[in-house]
Amino acid sequence: MSWEQIERPVLGHRIGGHVVMRGEGALAVEDPCSARPYGEIPIASAAEVDAAVAAAKAAFRAPAWRQLAPLARERLLHKLADAIEADAPRMAALEALDTGRPIALTETVDIPGACAWLRTYAGWPTKLHGRAGSLAAATIPHHAYVRREPVGVVAAITPWNFPLILSLFKIAPALAAGCTVVLKPAPETPLTALRLAELALQVGFPPGVLNVVLGDGASTGAALVTHPDVAKIAFTGSTATGQAILRSSVPELKRVTLELGGKSPSIICADADLARAIPEAAMACFFNSGQVCYAGTRLYVHRSQYEAVLQGLAEVAGTLKLGPSWSRDSALGPLISARQRDKVDGLVSRARASGIAEAGPRGAAPEHGHYYAPTILRDVPPEAEIAREEVFGPVLAVTAFDDVDEAIAMANDSVYGLAAHVWTRDLRIAHHASARLEAGTVFVNCMLLADPSFPFGGMKKSGIGRENGAEVFDAYLETKSVVIALN
Ligand code: NAD
Repeated sequence: MSWEQIERPVLGHRIGGHVVMRGEGALAVEDPCSARPYGEIPIASAAEVDAAVAAAKAAFRAPAWRQLAPLARERLLHKLADAIEADAPRMAALEALDTGRPIALTETVDIPGACAWLRTYAGWPTKLHGRAGSLAAATIPHHAYVRREPVGVVAAITPWNFPLILSLFKIAPALAAGCTVVLKPAPETPLTALRLAELALQVGFPPGVLNVVLGDGASTGAALVTHPDVAKIAFTGSTATGQAILRSSVPELKRVTLELGGKSPSIICADADLARAIPEAAMACFFNSGQVCYAGTRLYVHRSQYEAVLQGLAEVAGTLKLGPSWSRDSALGPLISARQRDKVDGLVSRARASGIAEAGPRGAAPEHGHYYAPTILRDVPPEAEIAREEVFGPVLAVTAFDDVDEAIAMANDSVYGLAAHVWTRDLRIAHHASARLEAGTVFVNCMLLADPSFPFGGMKKSGIGRENGAEVFDAYLETKSVVIALN
């Protein structure tokens, strides 16, 4: 079986409620499990980007959206979640086709996650209030208040690893706040973005509130982030692209949030429950074949447990069956592209050439497609390239430590600061490490729990600003003070 029978959305932009096929050139889109193209997307030029931003700007100003009651926005967000649930088999298959992620995971992670984000943010339009107050130094009678207003047109730019959920990290709060959106998904994974735009229109979002432009970063992405009518950029992707976007946002002083790369540390303490720590530390790195921004890719293990942990990790890795997205036996799918596979292989080959050893033999990988078997590297020196560079593949760099503060110091010795994991049964170590680790999120005795109610984002070169939680609204709302003299 494969995904040939799945009804795919037309591969064209969605602008102001219309399908637009124009563009400058085209890019092939492939199934990473077979490495075979299934179609091509048009690359939106400045003209299509301009049309999409104009549609979003017009929708932002139109009474149909601007004057919609908060309760009606809430209802629309719930209706979109309802529509995704009703369409779940198809949406899950589309996400599996594009990402190569096993269908059992897109069914249980991506689709329920998308709905969780929409339903959580559906609760917010009725709670986004300003406040009234008195001026501190004014001597005239007055009435003063603070308004929170939607920033305007949002450019949402997303990567290929979790296309639907990461687009909803942005779209759900943006729509809850009353903004309008132009979404540019990664060129490798257009399908669920297009289906989402179709469903939004069907459930009653006014045309132009959610637009999708397809294309690459160099032309489509760059045209979008420099467009003068885009008020805010919500970006998830690599640190290098985030830096370029931040630079390009300067002339217009756009509002920017950046969710970028990571090299997240995991620490297994001497007292950790190994029956829990070993499989969780393994999956913190290997889940989705390591293509997770906050994957725990550097593992520091107390020397007293070091060999036992290495052996346990190799056993877990050996049970993870690599296979195509349509097979319910598959635990891990392929990497997204040949380019990504070559990048991962290059990093591992250079580590091996420098004398770093693998902890055990690697499992089998299917012949076709961009598969890469989980790889565990042992005794990795902290200064090694493989301990410092983001891999975005299933490669775990393991190092021993003697003292928990030494492990925290090694964990913090990184330009990134997205997430960190700690396994310990000692509450004092849990709080001590949580306070000291330089990371936007610290997980203790658990892993990879992103949630719409809690802020998510990075310190250092892992990003600027926070998505999710109440904190996300600082990115989508302007704050306006109104002072009215009453004399
Ligand atoms: P990427 O930066 O190459 O691309 C991300 C998106 O940006 C794509 O849609 C791409 O077309 C677009 N883009 C590229 N250049 C652009 C430009 N100059 N202007 C505007 N848009 C541009 O990243 P990727 O390879 O698709 O994704 C992998 C990276 O994403 C990894 O570094 C990973 O850590 C990061 N990521 C971060 C998070 C997070 O929340 N922190 C989540 C997932 C992935």
